[in-house]
Amino acid sequence: MPELPEVEILARHLRPLLHGKTIRGVSVRRAKVLRPTSQREFQKALTGAKFTDLSRRGKYLLFELRSKTSGKPVTLLGHLGMTGRMFLAKKNESIPKHAAVVFDLGREYFIYEDTRYFGRLTLDLSAIEKLGPEPLDKSFSPEILARELKRSRQAIKVKLLDQSLVVGVGNIYASEALFRARISPKLAANKLTLAQTKKLWRAIRDVLAAAIAGGSTVQLNFTGGKSDGLFYFGRAHGTPDYYEERLRVYDRAGKPCFHCRRPVKRIVQAARSTFYCPHCQISR
Ligand SMILES: [Zn+2]
Repeated sequence: MPELPEVEILARHLRPLLHGKTIRGVSVRRAKVLRPTSQREFQKALTGAKFTDLSRRGKYLLFELRSKTSGKPVTLLGHLGMTGRMFLAKKNESIPKHAAVVFDLGREYFIYEDTRYFGRLTLDLSAIEKLGPEPLDKSFSPEILARELKRSRQAIKVKLLDQSLVVGVGNIYASEALFRARISPKLAANKLTLAQTKKLWRAIRDVLAAAIAGGSTVQLNFTGGKSDGLFYFGRAHGTPDYYEERLRVYDRAGKPCFHCRRPVKRIVQAARSTFYCPHCQISR
């Protein structure tokens, strides 16, 4: 499942490729991914529109376009769900079986593919209205984090996944940030000291910034090959090397901790796996 760094890398990759391109045709193959926008409304708003910008908010992609008919800005919100991919393909390449939406850009296609159709590509922006601060922005301070954590008795690992606390920290980076801050994932959020909160704030930013920096070295440009240029996410498609190397506890149950060499442990919290070192990560 893509987390904030993967979505940021994808946004940076697609931004220059889409900039200034005009949508000549909109083919919707799975209307489910547009919900609640109707297929008719979607096609009407986007046919002839030109891409002007692309940014990220949490795990959402925000495509900015200019409408052909009204000349007004149109925002298209994308989310990759569990298995979504968004990429450009040349016209002579075959369109994948699970393509949900295909934009005809003239010389190439812009394709949103999703084997499980849990993602979204929609004109409805309500999903981003209640999101918390961006972890890498100035609006996310240790003080704000401390204030929010004091209000919660949830285990800190579970609380970190709350998108109203801070956006974009998913299951992988929650475990990684807590390992870096040496805080047990089981500690109640309101039990963190100010010193621990500051360490955690720093760890969240460091782990995400390192992931973005590491991922940005990956080649994403399409070259016409069958799988080249398709940005693979997660393990279902095979994990790129860079991805594995920077994870210190995630998916390393039984393997030696990088600090103390004792085995990393896996537990389940709120139905999700957590990985941590019981020796290095203290629960007080
Ligand atoms: Zn350890």
